[in-house]
Amino acid sequence: MTGKILIIGASGQIGTELTLKLRELHGNDSVIASDIREGNEELMSSGPFEIADATDLSVIENIIEKHQVEEVYLMAAMLSATAEKHPMKAWNLNMDSLFHILNLAKEKKIKKVFWPSSIAVFGPTTPKENTPQTTIMEPTTVYGISKQTGERWCEYFHAKFGVDVRSLRYPGIISYKTLPGGGTTDYAIEIFHEALKSKTYTSFLAESTGLPMMYMDDAIKATIDLMDAPSENVKIRSSYNLSAISFTPKELAEEIKKHIPDFSIDYAPDFRQEIADSWPSDIDDSRARKDWNWKHQYDLSALTEKMLAGVSEAFEIS
Ligand code: NAD
Repeated sequence: MTGKILIIGASGQIGTELTLKLRELHGNDSVIASDIREGNEELMSSGPFEIADATDLSVIENIIEKHQVEEVYLMAAMLSATAEKHPMKAWNLNMDSLFHILNLAKEKKIKKVFWPSSIAVFGPTTPKENTPQTTIMEPTTVYGISKQTGERWCEYFHAKFGVDVRSLRYPGIISYKTLPGGGTTDYAIEIFHEALKSKTYTSFLAESTGLPMMYMDDAIKATIDLMDAPSENVKIRSSYNLSAISFTPKELAEEIKKHIPDFSIDYAPDFRQEIADSWPSDIDDSRARKDWNWKHQYDLSALTEKMLAGVSEAFEIS
């Protein structure tokens, strides 16, 4: 690739690790990170960084011209739990930033776009088990409505203008390098911090709430595999179902107890329970597996081991 890669929202949970992986693959100077706030030390010191507001078209266009950017990963968004508190701000950020990038691709100022969707596109009327790629989608959250709308526009820009846009419906992403950004699956990260610090955790979701989840390394691999796939293999241009594992707070606590036997959990569901209840518990991602050979690597036990080791090292908890 001659042109460069731009990550918008690079300081966030997924953006940070995606940027670092792309820098490892393509060279530090070929991957431009940008966000409205600075990222962690590793992100800031490993390559170019631009402060930019994703809703400001001229700022984004200038960065693309200045660095001769060919590929954009648009990771900036307001996530599910935060979006319920700031509905219009979430809608404006999630939609305006996407339109800017799709229009720049339509004008051939960039060649390829990655934009993440989410399991939040599904709603209470969607089949909860083994949720198909194509099914009833009546999301009941601001975030879910914005992601579903985004998917429709991605498909439209591909069909009408030939825009090479690719997308995944990420499940809850579990990682330790940065803190999570205000989603409904954040409990599955907080639990590791609290298990190591105080050996006790109060879950904001009820014990039997099963949700689709994925370890960060698998999410990054899926993203890069999809972007590297030959265009003709990317048959879905709305967004691909993507899945790895599914577990409940109780099952995760049991797994943690194998390493920290005196760990205890209790449950105090809050407003996020209603959001979780509207989402599927596991997802059929056979299209991703068939079209571009998707395979996940981490199961619940591997994820737990990685998280306990990673959180204790990154946050110096022993
Ligand atoms: P995050 O909240 O950790 O990161 C988002 C980043 O966007 C932050 O660094 C924030 O500063 C930045 N940002 C916010 N407003 C901005 C603006 N106006 N201009 C530029 N940057 C701005 O989120 P994340 O978890 O890394 O999620 C990345 C993407 O993946 C989002 O689209 C999210 O909806 C999607 N997703 C995430 C998960 C998950 O579990 N983390 C699951 C499904 C989908």
